[in-house]
This record gives sequence, C-alpha cells and structure tokens, in this order.
Amino acid sequence: MGVIVTRFAPSPNGPLHLGHAYSAIVAHDLAKERGGRFLLRIEDIDGVRSRPELAREFRADLAWLGLEWRQVPAQSTRLAAYEAAAQRLRAMGLLYPCRCTRAEIREVATADGPDGPVYPGTCRGASFAPGEAVAWRLNVVEALGRTGPLTWIDERMGEQVARPELHGDVVLVRKEAETPASYHLAVTLDDAADGVTLVTRGKDLFPATHVHRLLQALLALPVPTWHHHPLLLDETGKKLAKRRGSPSLADRRQAGEDGRALADALRAGRLPAGITLGESLSGDS
Ligand SMILES: [Zn+2]
Repeated sequence: MGVIVTRFAPSPNGPLHLGHAYSAIVAHDLAKERGGRFLLRIEDIDGVRSRPELAREFRADLAWLGLEWRQVPAQSTRLAAYEAAAQRLRAMGLLYPCRCTRAEIREVATADGPDGPVYPGTCRGASFAPGEAVAWRLNVVEALGRTGPLTWIDERMGEQVARPELHGDVVLVRKEAETPASYHLAVTLDDAADGVTLVTRGKDLFPATHVHRLLQALLALPVPTWHHHPLLLDETGKKLAKRRGSPSLADRRQAGEDGRALADALRAGRLPAGITLGESLSGDS
C-alpha cells in the first residue's frame, strides 16, 4: 500500500466554523497517524459567491488549530481538465443538454433523492438551438449499464454497492459559464489529480459518493477509500452552520482563544454546550 493522502477542501463562500475545524482535524489526523500527507484544496469555482480573500483566512485558521498541510492548486486553475472530462463523456454519448430550471424540476419531479427532487429526465432526447444556455446531465442508468455494478468502501461503514440512480441524472456541467463544473465532476477529478487515497468528509456527502464512484469508473480514475465522519449538529439536529449563530474560527482566533486547545477538545469529543456529534441529519431517514 502506498502513502495515505487525505484532504480538506473548503469553499471560500463564508468563514470556517467549528464543523469545518472538526472535518479538517479528522482528515489531518488520519493522514498523520499513518505517516501520510494532508492536503488543502480551495474549492473556488462557485463564481458568484466565491471570495478568494477568504483562502488566506482559512490558512490562518488551520495554522491556529495546529494543523500542517500541503496546499494544492485551487479549482479555478483546473477548468480545462473539467471541460476535457465532460467532452470525453459527451463523446461516449453519456451527457445530454438540459435547460430546466430548479422550479420546473420541482414541479415535475415524482421522487426525492439525497439532494432534493430527482430530475425525471425531461430533456433526454430533446433538441436545442445552438448557443442556448444549457446544463449537461449524465444519463446515469445508461452509464451504469456500461460500467456494470460498482462497489466502494467507506472505512467506517464497510463495503457499499454504488447506487448513483438515487440521484437521477445529475448535472456535471452547469448552465452558468462562471461555474462550469458541478461539485460531482470537479471533486472527483481533483481527488484523482491530487492523488487522494482516503477521501475524508462529512456524513452528509455519503450519498454523493455513489455518483463519484460511477464517474471514476467512466473516466478510468483510481478508486480511493472513503471516510465519512459524523457531523457537528446544533440543538435542532441540523448541521452546524455560521447562520445558526456559532462563532466562526476567525472570530474565535481574533478573540484570542487557544486554537490548539480547541482542536484537542474536538478530538476528545468535548463539544460546546448545545452541540453534538451525530451520524445523520434531522429529517434523514
Ligand atoms: Zn431538462
């Protein structure tokens, strides 16, 4: 077995909070315990909301927590790789254009998936005027037919049968020119390019792995192992977020709190009042 590589991949859309700290510490410690490498990747292709100046704050936050990392190129430098992969999937006949809005999909959807209403394939086989703004969706059933059944391994949950069809035909290339690749496409390509061997992230992203495993098979990418860790939840069982009033890491740092002591408390499961570690979000079955 080669060296273990984990990563923390925040988006600079807002400050990091305690949930991010926990995620970064888990990924850092899993690599460190096994003599591996811990990477920091900035996921900065959400064009509208992205605030590049936050990346500097993120590095200050991680250093304050006592973590050491190696930074890899941000997503905004990788757009050509995303487009090349999309082109390859188009050439395989597995992508189709879609112009539906979220509201239209909500209206016609008959099933709910992990991320909300499942797209029912409205635009499959439709024709479009050249130059029309479209998203590109993966024909998931067709794709799974080509690859055959797939499995993947989560360190904590064991072997899983890949069920990308739970998501319906996911968007791989977004309609918005400034945000070309969807999370699914970008993160799968990035983890392969960065040599990540243990994809460490929150349990809320567990269902997304079904899609990522399929993309790896289609694009002949190496298959990592996954580690989906429990989430920090607030009093209502919702994922902890800045908007629910928890101070950001930058707030705590600037107030003079001891970051290493905070990291050790999180490692030991000593959480602030009202916050718990949970395996599932409120509302999940
Ligand atoms: Zn459509």
